[in-house]
Amino acid sequence: MQTLRASKCGLSTAQLPSSILDVIDSLTKAGYEAYIVGGGVRDLMLGLNPKDFDAVTNATPSQVKEVFGRRCRIIGRRFELAHVYSGRELIEVATFRAPPKKAVTSAQGMILRDNNWGTIEQDFSRRDFSINAMYYQPRKGIVLDFCNAIDDIRNKTLRLLGDPALRFEEDPVRMLRTLRFAAKLNFDIDPAILKVFTPEMTQLLRDVSPHRLYDESQKLFTMGHLYRIMPMLIEFGVWRQLFAEVPTQITKFIELAAKNTDQRIQIGKTINPAFFYAVLLWENFLERYNFYTAKGVVAAEARAQAGLDVLKRQATRTIIPRFAETFVREVWEMQSRLLQPKPQQIEALAGHARFRAGFDFMLLREKSGDQTTQGMGAWWDAYQNMSTDEKERAISSYNRQRAKNRRKAQDEAVPVETQNQDKKASTVIEPLVKESETRSRRSRRSRNHEQSEQLTTIINQQGQVESIQADHPILKRKRVQRDLAKVIFGPTQ
Ligand code: ATP
Ligand code: MG
Repeated sequence: MQTLRASKCGLSTAQLPSSILDVIDSLTKAGYEAYIVGGGVRDLMLGLNPKDFDAVTNATPSQVKEVFGRRCRIIGRRFELAHVYSGRELIEVATFRAPPKKAVTSAQGMILRDNNWGTIEQDFSRRDFSINAMYYQPRKGIVLDFCNAIDDIRNKTLRLLGDPALRFEEDPVRMLRTLRFAAKLNFDIDPAILKVFTPEMTQLLRDVSPHRLYDESQKLFTMGHLYRIMPMLIEFGVWRQLFAEVPTQITKFIELAAKNTDQRIQIGKTINPAFFYAVLLWENFLERYNFYTAKGVVAAEARAQAGLDVLKRQATRTIIPRFAETFVREVWEMQSRLLQPKPQQIEALAGHARFRAGFDFMLLREKSGDQTTQGMGAWWDAYQNMSTDEKERAISSYNRQRAKNRRKAQDEAVPVETQNQDKKASTVIEPLVKESETRSRRSRRSRNHEQSEQLTTIINQQGQVESIQADHPILKRKRVQRDLAKVIFGPTQ
């Protein structure tokens, strides 16, 4: 073990937010050891802007809770951690971990429970990469380096601690982390890792919970180097494990969307990771849609069913949370609305909550050479920058063109789906995805059907008393504890 002078590693307390200093200071004052560890230290040493700072201590989670009281929540079962709120920020505080006791690993060697507290040396050897295992005590101005990690920082090498095969078996997610850090930091992967990182090894990812893989996939999408990591995921066989149904031949559309995502992150814009799922699964959605329409299912129903099918299959690999599922299906649904908008609805459509994401999606399709958008991406692009008068003229001209197309279609005796719908067209837009169509709500709806006639009173937003039916969505909402530090707002505000 070597103790490095923090200033010599380019570290100073001035770079640290008050939240992490507050956590370190409070733990130290209470008589515990406390360090900053992980990505925060690594990124500062590399001159990058850390995403967050993690703390590690010899205090157990319940002792951490004693120090911070109501500002602290203990989370996790497999991997128990304390979440400490400091101002608006959340700091993860982990306790030094010893190797897990026996009988908590799966048949494949995967660690299932990991809450055996230990010393800093033991904690160090449990970490993944050397560059993630430096312990920084900012008040003492020192960095504890147990494995000459500083050299790996200098040589830009990603080295796993211990035997790479064993470390992958213990936690297959480390394979994803290898590729993520190699892409993000532009580091070389240690040959010892490359030797064992085979397609067979990636099979172990099947044992990882789809919830965890969804979280990891989000990190891949939002790290700012999505375009760079995609070929790596394919080359190492990880792609197949994460997105089994998406071909390994990257389409122009996916490529453009990945570049676009990276650019947005670079200039500090928000992104919604579900948007990239919509992109990845678009071709599968179309295929499934064609399957249903070929069977004679009407277009709207075919779209709804295709959306459900495709997302359900993907969820066997990476779970798709309800909000992401709705988002993806709405983006897909928007494609047909934007392609053939009813003139009376154009204005309302442009103000729709999902317009921006739907439009971005269509424009990316168009830019990647998809001619089925019929140039409507560019049309909407221009429309948004027009004055009110220009907008009116654009709608009239669109309307004329539409009538012309319809006459042409009639002459060719092709039934036009929109003809009848037009008669009842109003400026009100139907919901893009009907709540009743989502997976588990269907059964809940029928269960609640009997109660639906009963009325309940609530106070509405204007403060007035209002009667609502017992099956109103507001009554079904569960209180969700959100980790605000991890909420990513999107897609394109
Ligand atoms: P970033 O936050 O930039 O994605 P990070 O290295 O901080 O990168 P976290 O997921 O925040 O990654 O984890 C914090 C630290 O916890 C890591 O640096 C590493 O030391 C340890 N760690 C995280 N995941 C694992 C794992 N699967 N196996 C071993 N150690 C891990
Ligand atoms: Mg981190």
